[in-house]
Amino acid sequence: MEHVKTLIVGSGPAGYTAAIYASRANLKPLLYQGPQPGGQLTITNDVENFPGYPKGIMGPQMMMELQAQAERFGTDIRTGLVTGVKFNENGPHVATIDEKTEISADTVIISTGASAKWLGLESETRLNGQGVSACAVCDGFFYRGQEVAVVGAGDSAAEEAHYLSNLCSKVHMIVRRDEMRASKIMQDRVIKKENIEIHWNSETQEVLGDDVVNGVRIINNKTQETTDLPVTGFFVAIGHKPNTDIFKGQLDMDDAGYLITQPDSTKTNIKGVFAAGDVQDTIYRQAVTAAGTGCMAALEAERYLTELED
Ligand code: NDP
Repeated sequence: MEHVKTLIVGSGPAGYTAAIYASRANLKPLLYQGPQPGGQLTITNDVENFPGYPKGIMGPQMMMELQAQAERFGTDIRTGLVTGVKFNENGPHVATIDEKTEISADTVIISTGASAKWLGLESETRLNGQGVSACAVCDGFFYRGQEVAVVGAGDSAAEEAHYLSNLCSKVHMIVRRDEMRASKIMQDRVIKKENIEIHWNSETQEVLGDDVVNGVRIINNKTQETTDLPVTGFFVAIGHKPNTDIFKGQLDMDDAGYLITQPDSTKTNIKGVFAAGDVQDTIYRQAVTAAGTGCMAALEAERYLTELED
């Protein structure tokens, strides 16, 4: 079985930053990219709040640069999914790749991030990819000049609505309360846009269409009045779920599935296993905080390996 000092699972800002630090510390890390190489930032648009980019940078471009930086110091980056793990209190830990290859590692850094949540409607599932999407930057182009809807009221929804408003004739935002969770600056951006209409206190009852989306039925949860919006695209932006299913029963997690780390540390309940980025962050969930915890995880892995050798 192939053995490495440090295995990094996931390729967002946390994973790549851990890889940069671990490779510069000569840990010769092996990184598995997972199902979405580059992570959530590859489906975002302009990143304007990452320090060092005064003019902003496109998410996918930023992730390519982080990957190149990790490779420059010798990180072994591979495509593949970690489909199972067996953590051992006294190490080494074993990971199964694509349900067949096993790799053992003295330290494991988990940076598997989080995935988009869906509303759970039958019509949403049936029309996924046929007008239903969770990524405006990936799919917005197909709806140029058309009318679309975005559900959600956080920063993601505001960002998606704003992005789509530059492509589409009209954007409907479906907001379930009478206020938005998004930051003030993002709210102002969507409120100011003439072709964004916000439907307050509104929930999605059904996505309409047989083979492709041709509308969405919303219901006002105060008046119970229903309205059909004539949209061809329906974008869901209601938050994320941490990607931790394969760690259930082995690592401590909270009720929502976020990994629990020790205070001021990336250490999990198993020695030699560290967690960084959105997979363990219920509060900040930013690229820069993910990168910060990726750095912490690599430093803690290096210290742990030094102690093992003593
Ligand atoms: P959030 O959890 O912040 O927001 C989710 C939104 O979806 C909320 O408004 C919530 O409504 C709504 N929602 C949840 N479930 C449903 C449902 N079933 N039906 C209708 N609406 C629903 O997620 P985000 O992805 O927006 O943001 C996550 C984190 O990432 C945040 O910290 C955010 O600040 C950050 N972020 C930052 C960006 C930037 O700075 N450029 C861009 C994108 C994200 P309710 O408010 O009623 O609970």
